[in-house]
Amino acid sequence: MSDQPTRRTVLRGAAVLGLGGAAGLLVKKAHGQIFWQVDPARCLNSRLGETTVEACNLCTSECVVGLSAVRAVNEYSRCGRCNICPAYFDISSAVDEKGMPSQKLCPRDAIQRKPIGKADPEDPANNFYEYFIDEDKCDGCGKCVMKCKEPLGLGSIVLRVRYDRCVNCNRCTISTACPKNALIQVPQDEALHPPEILRHG
Ligand code: SF4
Ligand code: SF4
Ligand code: SF4
Repeated sequence: MSDQPTRRTVLRGAAVLGLGGAAGLLVKKAHGQIFWQVDPARCLNSRLGETTVEACNLCTSECVVGLSAVRAVNEYSRCGRCNICPAYFDISSAVDEKGMPSQKLCPRDAIQRKPIGKADPEDPANNFYEYFIDEDKCDGCGKCVMKCKEPLGLGSIVLRVRYDRCVNCNRCTISTACPKNALIQVPQDEALHPPEILRHG
């Protein structure tokens, strides 16, 4: 294996150095007003009609922040609270003795669920669940986003730049790599802050 630093390592180092060297500019941005944001209408993983099996994981691999500043977010108002959620379960996995998929989809086990009300084991089709993302585990790989789309899902899970994690690089490295120009810059008052990312006890 080469000892040469990877492009990402170099960029990460440059970004960290830039935190000090260009502090004035970053401070200006932090107050000022411009944020990077994922446009779900452009992102391959959330865009309707994109049906590739593998999700695009460039938001994970290209971000200069460890684990990435991008996370999956479930917009509860759009979620169907399905019993067999195609983002929670790997619906291509073998069916278990209860008739449910035997494997979860998320490689980091970052999607959790809780029954809404009392779950009835005799009538699973009428059980509904609240799904939420464990933000400390999620790395924004996009697999769940790709699966939570019509016709199986309702598109309630999307990728968001977490502003409390993002160092607001002058030229976001994800933006450079993104095949769909889905990383866009927006003014602060138009930025989508993620109230849906909740810490559930
Ligand atoms: S790099 Fe672009 S297409 Fe890929 S997951 Fe990120 S926003 Fe979506
Ligand atoms: S984006 Fe990836 S790591 Fe995050 S919840 Fe979805 S599948 Fe899991
Ligand atoms: S601007 Fe934010 S999301 Fe983009 S590479 Fe830098 S830290 Fe990551």
